[in-house]
Amino acid sequence: MGNKLLEYQDLDKKLKKLKKESLGNEKVVENLNKTIKDCQTKILELEDTSKKLLESLNKLMEVERKGIAYVEKCSKLDIEKMSPEELKDFDAKTSQTAKQLAELDSRIASHNAEVKRVVLDYKTYRKKILDAKEKREQLKTESAEKTEKTTPELDEIKAKMAKLEKEIDAQKLAKYKTLKQDGIFPVLVPLVDKRCGGCRVELSSSALDSLKNSGTHECEQCRRIIYIEK
Ligand SMILES: [Zn+2]
Repeated sequence: MGNKLLEYQDLDKKLKKLKKESLGNEKVVENLNKTIKDCQTKILELEDTSKKLLESLNKLMEVERKGIAYVEKCSKLDIEKMSPEELKDFDAKTSQTAKQLAELDSRIASHNAEVKRVVLDYKTYRKKILDAKEKREQLKTESAEKTEKTTPELDEIKAKMAKLEKEIDAQKLAKYKTLKQDGIFPVLVPLVDKRCGGCRVELSSSALDSLKNSGTHECEQCRRIIYIEK
């Protein structure tokens, strides 16, 4: 087996490592974007909730105003001039109004508590968004700096690989690429104590013979290309 393919794989490993490093940041940025989006959705929900709360609070207060106006009107009536029947009716109406007003009071109080909770949640989500955005900016700057630093290195590796591709046997290179595409990496592994350097399965004597004769042997278990280390 040509050493050039091994050399090619070493460059491939470096490339993979460099790409993985930048990918780590991308993943974090992706998560931050999700946090921001989730919080924005929550805020929209809260805005909708607060709108509804305000509407029903206005209605409750309107009812309360009417109740109070009724009580004021009643306080001006001269009960001395009322007949016993009218007085009874008046009593019933005023006590009912008082009861309703008390109920309204407690509903308004709970509405106010709800409004306070909404405002607090709103602030919490706003803070989360701001924090996530700040962190995202920081990571973007870091990534840009890193990319700037690693770009020449990446380009150099890619150029070396392109040069090697022309020198490597086309069939072997195609096989390498196929295995890599199938998620098998490293593709080339050394023989270690008569075992595959990838999956550690022990090679049969015929497999060892074939390896010695041709220089490489495809592992029956993990499909990696086994070579003898010099
Ligand atoms: Zn194997």
